[in-house]
Amino acid sequence: MTLTTSPVAAPPPWLAPHWAALQRARASGRLPHALLIAGPAGVGKRLLADLLIRSLLCQAPGPDSLPCGTCQDCRLCAAGNHPDLVRLGPDPEGKSDEIKVAGIRDLVESEGLTPSRGPHKVILIDPAERMNPSAANALLKTLEEPAPGTLFCLIAERVHLLPATVRSRCQRLILGLPQEDQALGWLGGRVAGRDPRLLLRLAHGAPLRALALADADLLARRDSACAGFVAVGQGGRDPVAEAQAWGDLSPRVSLEWLGGWVSDLLRLAADGRAAYLSNPDKREALAVLAARLDPQAGHRYLQRVLAARASQDNPLNPQLLHEALLIDWAYLARKVT
Ligand SMILES: [Zn+2]
Repeated sequence: MTLTTSPVAAPPPWLAPHWAALQRARASGRLPHALLIAGPAGVGKRLLADLLIRSLLCQAPGPDSLPCGTCQDCRLCAAGNHPDLVRLGPDPEGKSDEIKVAGIRDLVESEGLTPSRGPHKVILIDPAERMNPSAANALLKTLEEPAPGTLFCLIAERVHLLPATVRSRCQRLILGLPQEDQALGWLGGRVAGRDPRLLLRLAHGAPLRALALADADLLARRDSACAGFVAVGQGGRDPVAEAQAWGDLSPRVSLEWLGGWVSDLLRLAADGRAAYLSNPDKREALAVLAARLDPQAGHRYLQRVLAARASQDNPLNPQLLHEALLIDWAYLARKVT
């Protein structure tokens, strides 16, 4: 999470009700000691957590309890040095992407839970579902006996991966996707020169993800990868060569694109004039392939892509994964029904 500097903007409209509810809870002394902010990627979980944390640590919150952005505490937060904000996440330099027990133990055994500058101490665990079982266990004990003034803020996209014992000790704040009009209104002014509707569609309705997709290089890369996928399907491109060309794509990105294209192929195979596509800008190219797709085999293929996406925390060699998926795709697409 990057903490921005002043001025501090109000939360986007779809988060405003959550923000207001948190401030009401705070004003009446009912802010939980453990908060689990959950929801799909790109919906604003970290943005909301960031605002809440800064607001708690700020010496002079302004209207709507927004952090002032200029006091010493706000500056420490922005610099990532506030002593009363502890972040726990996977070690970026480590081999594993788990949150290990050592970090939680250090925190519990040291004076890490006592605020040093103001009334609040915040422990941010992000992404919380990456805690390994021992880490979750160690946290549990602390969640049962919270230190006064301490807020545990857990962020998770896949809440079901958190132990039920941890979930049940947190107050859950679930962020949903905003209405399309609301998201477009917010996105429109931020993606000059790009089609906000297309970006939002590509981001499955998640506005912050749509904003990240507005990157021109990434959009161009998607165009070329999609052209390669279509060419493989038409027999005009060797799947192994295309997999090599995907060497710059992390499976996190490529599998999401691939899943979206195959889903659209199935929609078009069922109805050549399907109104909703995840990739409306690729309708023409995908329609040609959809016309000859065996839907059953297509569904099986989509399941494979989704399964590979779900296990992407422990990826195979990305090159091998791309090869296997593109070879299968070539085989599937050339089979005439
Ligand atoms: Zn401040």
